[in-house]
Amino acid sequence: MNQYKNLGTKYIHAGVEPDPSTGAIMTPIYQTSTFVQAAPGVHKGYEYARSQNPTRFALETAFAAIENAKYGLAFSSGVAATDAVMRLLIPGDEVICAHDMYGGTYRLFSKVYEKMGIVFHYVDTSNVENVAAAITEKTKLIWIETPTNPLMNITDIEAVSSIGKKHNCIVCVDNTFASPYLQNPLDQGATIVMHSATKYLGGHSDVIQGCLMMNEESLREQLYFIQKSTGAVPGPQDCFLVLRGIKTLHVRMQRHCENGEKVAHYLQQHPKVAKVYWCGLEEHPNHSIAKKQMRGFGGMISFTLVNDSMEAATKVLSSTKIFSLAESLGGVESLINHPASMTHASIPRERRIANGLSDGLIRLSVGIEDIEDIIADLAQAIG
Ligand SMILES: *Cc1c(COP(=O)(O)O)cnc(C)c1O
Repeated sequence: MNQYKNLGTKYIHAGVEPDPSTGAIMTPIYQTSTFVQAAPGVHKGYEYARSQNPTRFALETAFAAIENAKYGLAFSSGVAATDAVMRLLIPGDEVICAHDMYGGTYRLFSKVYEKMGIVFHYVDTSNVENVAAAITEKTKLIWIETPTNPLMNITDIEAVSSIGKKHNCIVCVDNTFASPYLQNPLDQGATIVMHSATKYLGGHSDVIQGCLMMNEESLREQLYFIQKSTGAVPGPQDCFLVLRGIKTLHVRMQRHCENGEKVAHYLQQHPKVAKVYWCGLEEHPNHSIAKKQMRGFGGMISFTLVNDSMEAATKVLSSTKIFSLAESLGGVESLINHPASMTHASIPRERRIANGLSDGLIRLSVGIEDIEDIIADLAQAIG
């Protein structure tokens, strides 16, 4: 499964075999709901497409390979993948999670699973002592995201994973922001990796999808059972698109990293910019951990203006021409976002501010356009 050592070769070839019936080099889109059986129970491994689909299986093999995992599972969205992990729990179980994670994850935990009797402890996981302190004998899951969205806080995956191991709980890492090109949490001891494949894996802002990767067979069995029983599977066309996206992940990520670095340094010296959040900067509080566990620092950057107000931010947000004002990230095109009113609007304001996410914070997903155009656009928008 993981026969390719170098990342680029792996991304292009993982999971992709020429179609056995025609030799087609690209995995066909098996747009079918069911598969004909020669006699009851006599089939080619495919019965019904919620449980098995060849396009999805090819993608799931690629998912496993890109995270150095034994198993991969595809879901109809990132939150559906998160939801599948939550279904491993029963009422009374406790979860430790980051206080500044993705807004949709927070909404799922606090609005759907809290009322089903799951108990959440929201802590600053960038200080691992907070994680150790929140552990009880009921803790079943530690959920971390690193870098976090949108403040780019870094959590030490290895340290949290060893706490998880000691207390026999699952450590799941939302690896969406880093992508497998920059970081592989299973290699650092995590139990499950989750991605919103909507972002860097798909890479072209044309698909919603999620995935889970893991090494333990029993966990794969449980999660596969949940996948087919609850039915949040992606269609074959979407699987094809993500398979295609993965083939260029390394080339896109190289450029996202290069552009990200230039934009971070540009913003840092700008007189109207107060603070830049990018884990590649020496002065980032967790830079040394980022350096230890990541191969590069990516193209996700947040910043505040000296005039840290909704009004000043709004002016920048509505003046960019190359950066489009939109939620989401990780596509080839640059996007600009206002977390307080967009991606993180579901987090109560007091909680948001307490966590350091101000009304004026601006988040960039730096794309892979030419850097001169990207900088010129920011220059005219910030003024
Ligand atoms: C987008 C995102 C999700 C949710 O994924 P969807 O594909 O939108 O359901 C989860 N975590 C992070 C960090 C994300 O950016």
